[in-house]
Amino acid sequence: MKLLLHACCGPCSLEPTRFLANEGHDITIAYMNSNIHPASEYDRRLSTLRAWADRENLPIVEGPYDVRAWEGCVGTVASDTYASREDRCRACYRMRLEEAARYASEHGFDGVSTTLTVSPYQYTDIIREELKRAAGAHGIASLFEDFRPLYDEATRRSRELGMYRQNYCGCRISQAEAEAERRERKAARAAKREA
Ligand code: SF4
Repeated sequence: MKLLLHACCGPCSLEPTRFLANEGHDITIAYMNSNIHPASEYDRRLSTLRAWADRENLPIVEGPYDVRAWEGCVGTVASDTYASREDRCRACYRMRLEEAARYASEHGFDGVSTTLTVSPYQYTDIIREELKRAAGAHGIASLFEDFRPLYDEATRRSRELGMYRQNYCGCRISQAEAEAERRERKAARAAKREA
């Protein structure tokens, strides 16, 4: 099918594009990720994706980088004291997949899919639900694949290709969480050495 593949970054696109091309799909990549903070990180991930996709002759469409819209949608969920990380990520998936499905529907694509499921750190079942919801709302097919079994190969290939590999999911909150976790691990190692 003529497929719009929502992609979060270059490394996560390697294996899904190979898998989906082998299945016979005609792939266009959609970089629609207003979640990514800061803007320099957004640009870095996009340029990494573009450099690789150009070599593979894969077309890319870029959505608007609308941080204000992301904050109005996902940031609001995240600031709710009772909201969980799952709630926040669901809102984030919803915004990005909705954008991809809308674009796909308006530009003659048969279906929409996403690379988000490569990562074992994402909520796979929620991604499945949100992809189906977004595709259904726009009258196109939802092509869900759980790409987690391909994560190790994606890691190996992206290292081999010298691709930039980010160390946090994307939003300002995940960046702060990842930094806090690294500080905690460093402190634990220092405490262990002293002991
Ligand atoms: S952790 Fe990732 S999926 Fe969750 S809200 Fe942040 S950028 Fe979105």
